[in-house]
Amino acid sequence: MQQLYKAIMTDTSPESIAGIELPKSYRAAFVKKDEIGMFDGIPSREKDPRKSLHVGEVPLPELAPDEAYIAVMASAINFNTVWTSIFEPLPTFPFLQRMTKLGKWGARHDLDWHVVGSDASGVVLKVGSLVRNFTPGDKVTVHCNYVDDQDFTSHDDSMLSSNQRIWGFESNFGGLADLAVVKVNQLMPKPAHLSWEEAACNSLCCSTAYRMLVGPNGARMKQGDIVLVWGATGGLGGYAVQFVLNGGGVPVGVVSSREKAELLRNLGCKAVIDRSEKGYKFWKDDNTQDESEWRRFGKDIRELVGDDPDIVFEHPGRSTFGASVFVAKRGGTIVTCAATSGYMIEYDNRHLWMKLKTIKGSHFANYKEAWEANKLIGLGKIHPILSAVYPLEQVGDAAWQVHRNLHEGKIGILCLAPEEGLGIDDLHLRQRIGEDRINLFRRKSGK
Ligand code: NAP
Repeated sequence: MQQLYKAIMTDTSPESIAGIELPKSYRAAFVKKDEIGMFDGIPSREKDPRKSLHVGEVPLPELAPDEAYIAVMASAINFNTVWTSIFEPLPTFPFLQRMTKLGKWGARHDLDWHVVGSDASGVVLKVGSLVRNFTPGDKVTVHCNYVDDQDFTSHDDSMLSSNQRIWGFESNFGGLADLAVVKVNQLMPKPAHLSWEEAACNSLCCSTAYRMLVGPNGARMKQGDIVLVWGATGGLGGYAVQFVLNGGGVPVGVVSSREKAELLRNLGCKAVIDRSEKGYKFWKDDNTQDESEWRRFGKDIRELVGDDPDIVFEHPGRSTFGASVFVAKRGGTIVTCAATSGYMIEYDNRHLWMKLKTIKGSHFANYKEAWEANKLIGLGKIHPILSAVYPLEQVGDAAWQVHRNLHEGKIGILCLAPEEGLGIDDLHLRQRIGEDRINLFRRKSGK
């Protein structure tokens, strides 16, 4: 594969890149169908991605007419790779099996191995016969909204498409690999001032946060809105805080340690709550919530910013949802895209209806929203939140960090790129933004 990297770097003309002969197999991170039951009886927390995520050779699939082969320079860990690797809440193989209904090209995905990964940056190697807007040699980032654009339900808002999937989670041939197969409508220009790993870590979480807060389909944050952000230095939260600041809102960030609180302040968030220090106990036991703790939390928010949140950016789920509904302002919105701590949610409906609040479900982003979020990164208005980088061989260790909440921001994975810091084309913009800002989340590791 290093030969492939060299070939791409030697002559970057579209003809030369298109002429590169692709190998019959490639290095990828995958889970195996015959290991679905390997963690049966083990508590979720102990299920170990280092045991289930394998790195090895897999055959290169045939390319459909609306697809592209990507030489993946770097990728990133998302929580969906954690879910896939611990086979929770469901194993992902049934998703792949369902793709057989889509005919010949869909059936390719139904394999005994699932190549995971829903983020990537890299170079277009070859394109199918129907592809118009990208050519071999283009430097790209990949978003993970996988839709069939010949289905009428994919139009208007493609996240409402009946066949919408998340690439590398609900489809095969994902980004944690040296090569990837993507639909061409997943491609976006790589931000020129970023390295491969900095460019690879954004798309999934940044686009999701964009739709939740900024785009027309989410909470539609306005200037001056107070936005409560859970996990404010995590994958989603690190972008959410930036969108709130960039859009003239007031973020209130919740984190779980002194170090994260400091990082959050450095990100520009003045109102910071360290939930470990505060010791909130929203649940008295597995079945009973404690409204007095919701009140204490709400009081702490008011003390920091003088009012209740117009928007609550929710994703922890069962542990926090009751509190989130309670603290939102009269008429406010709780926008949610996940339930890390449990999806059977409980809240007091009186606080929702009597105060005319709205719960808004959100999921990833359509192509336009992902493109707009990517554009803000390209303009240097929103920055990567890369905190660490691992080689592909250590993808299991990286997923373990995220599974156990030992990380901050995003963990990048080097695939074909032989080292960190490569792929930067616009040094001028980089210098204007400043290394300190681009590397804010990496300071802990001294990088
Ligand atoms: P992440 O990097 O692990 O960050 C999540 C943060 O949430 C953690 O750092 C933690 O921060 C906080 N948190 C975790 N458990 C919590 C709890 N019980 N109570 C309060 N805070 C808690 O993960 P992520 O990438 O942000 O993703 C978060 C969730 O969203 C995952 O379940 C993921 O699958 C989902 N997701 C969904 C979409 C979508 O399109 N639907 C997209 C991206 C992610 P502190 O410990 O510092 O408080």
